[in-house]
Amino acid sequence: MSVVDRQEWDVVVVGAGGAGLRAAIEARERGARTAVICKSLFGKAHTVMAEGGIAAAMANANEHDTWQVHFRDTMRGGKFLNQWRMAELHAQEAPDRVWELETWGALFDRTKDGRISQRNFGGHEYPRLAHVGDRTGLELIRTLQQKIVALQQEDFKETGDYESRLKVFQECTVTRILKDGGRVSGVFAYDRETGRFFVLEAPAVVLATGGIGKSFKVTSNSWEYTGDGHALALLAGAPLLNMEFVQFHPTGMVWPPSVKGILVTESVRGDGGVLRNSEGKRFMFDYVPDVFKEKYAESEEEADRWYEDPDHNRRPPELLPRDEVARAINAEVKAGRGSPHGGVFLDVSTRMPAEVIRRRLPSMYHQFKELADVDITAEAMEVGPTCHYVMGGVAVDSDTAAARGVPGLYAAGEVAGGMHGSNRLGGNSLSDLLVFGRRAGWHAAEYAQGLAARRPPVDDAQVDTAAAEALRPFSAEAGGGGEPGPPENPYTLHQELQQTMNDLVGIIRREGEMEQALHKLAELRTRARRAGVEGHRQFNPGWHLALDLRNMLLVSECVARAALERTESRGGHTREDHPTMDRAWRNVNLLCTLADPTGGLAATDPARGQIRLARETTDPIRPDLLALFEKEELVKYLAEEELYE
Ligand code: FAD
Repeated sequence: MSVVDRQEWDVVVVGAGGAGLRAAIEARERGARTAVICKSLFGKAHTVMAEGGIAAAMANANEHDTWQVHFRDTMRGGKFLNQWRMAELHAQEAPDRVWELETWGALFDRTKDGRISQRNFGGHEYPRLAHVGDRTGLELIRTLQQKIVALQQEDFKETGDYESRLKVFQECTVTRILKDGGRVSGVFAYDRETGRFFVLEAPAVVLATGGIGKSFKVTSNSWEYTGDGHALALLAGAPLLNMEFVQFHPTGMVWPPSVKGILVTESVRGDGGVLRNSEGKRFMFDYVPDVFKEKYAESEEEADRWYEDPDHNRRPPELLPRDEVARAINAEVKAGRGSPHGGVFLDVSTRMPAEVIRRRLPSMYHQFKELADVDITAEAMEVGPTCHYVMGGVAVDSDTAAARGVPGLYAAGEVAGGMHGSNRLGGNSLSDLLVFGRRAGWHAAEYAQGLAARRPPVDDAQVDTAAAEALRPFSAEAGGGGEPGPPENPYTLHQELQQTMNDLVGIIRREGEMEQALHKLAELRTRARRAGVEGHRQFNPGWHLALDLRNMLLVSECVARAALERTESRGGHTREDHPTMDRAWRNVNLLCTLADPTGGLAATDPARGQIRLARETTDPIRPDLLALFEKEELVKYLAEEELYE
């Protein structure tokens, strides 16, 4: 039996981004002793990269905005596949979560009369994104971090120990959820610096680990996004929902190659930036789909008037939801009307004075100046689609954020599925993190407290198995795990995985290519069991990657299998061989589970695949929520039998 340090907590939050920190604050405030554990340094989570803002119907910029309009926009953006109760709670509670941030010290940009300023974003009917220049995520994390420190100071006054009720384990990775029977009993983790293993015993675990973008070659995501939480949930027995929906943000940098994929915020278009092809044409007018025709301007003149008079003009088509814009850019490039480096042009320089650009888009100005030697106040940017966000995720209860089928497991933020349907609107992630982070922390604390002394014990055998699994890359030379063949380099495997997902399960998908991808994934899985590293557990990034590969391969298989199964195009899932949205698929969810229900991977033949797929019918949308839409609009989305009901 391995000797591993153990600590007891009530709630363990895996992830210290917006969702994790908000969950931890809530759990601690409700009296639960709470541990937060994160791969990066405290305050460095991916959320700090969020630029444009937090969507909340506060009606500061347009008095007509309400939670009902926000709900409507979110459902339209998600093409009605959203878990509607989540979209409802999100729209209702987002304003309170933003105001709460202000009371904790956040400083948002202001309107002239001193209210929180709100900006336009794609798919939002009114200006709705509360923001801090284009560095909103940084302010959000700074504020939540400050709140955590304040709570720790309170605890110090009472107990003499800052970490008695709320402790952050930074630069530590969780590799397994531990269970007692069906229930959560804790997590197994290692310290990234020293390689030391440890266990946090807790009856409730909140997953807040973010997304999966590092499985794709061109991505806006940070190094942390290896789908760990998705994989941990699967391995613990919780299903993943609708993993085929991956958002390709329309505007990532395309040049130089070293920065390809880095995000160009949607605020650029929200603030007036326009997209042009190599012929100088504002091509988005040619790509407004029928379902959105009534809401978007037909001419450049009307689109331009909208910025000054939104009540009497329709929105520019550059502000269509992201999936539409990404597909349009892809089509223009494919038709030979792209920019020199394979993107299109995004121009603010002819639309705003230089000084306004520098004030409203400071990060973009510096990003292009420093990384591409482009002055965006004087010339157009070159942009193209980049893998940005995963709508699919852990299947959760809308109200409590409890993961389906595993008592004690919760998920919030990007790792959770359902909220955004088939496509997320910009700004709806930061609000999602706060609304559902709070709910996850609240219900996890309540669940843990409800167990009182009957806490599920941690099973030593599971700890030993987790330790052996984590050590396997060091014995690859001896054929790690009994697999025949030479040791494999984890970096090579990662590159091949990224190329496979990018080329074969990317923005435009075809049946044959996805089948090819599944074959390649099977090969990579077999080779990954021999992923080997040299040296020791201290400071060993190759070892970390070898462990992350398990997660990326699991998640990539979910994406590929679900994408092959869904024979329609909807939101972030575009099939060239099934190019239209099919109403018969409107109420179908695809659920991925692990083929081996015991949560083991060794028993499963990697070549056969590790994921099983099942269909389920979604809950009917509540009639009072459906009544928020015109009948003519619903006819475009809902399945025949739903309309009849
Ligand atoms: P994260 O902030 O990513 O946090 C994940 C945490 O989990 C990290 O602390 C990580 O270390 C930890 N973790 C992961 N795996 C493990 C593990 N195995 N063990 C321990 N810890 C682990 N959304 C908006 O709404 N508005 C915007 O303006 C916006 N701009 C964006 C700009 C960019 C460039 C990008 C890439 C995204 C943007 N998004 C935006 C999306 C949004 O930032 C993310 O969806 C959101 O921040 C995810 O937050 P999270 O709390 O779910 O996860």
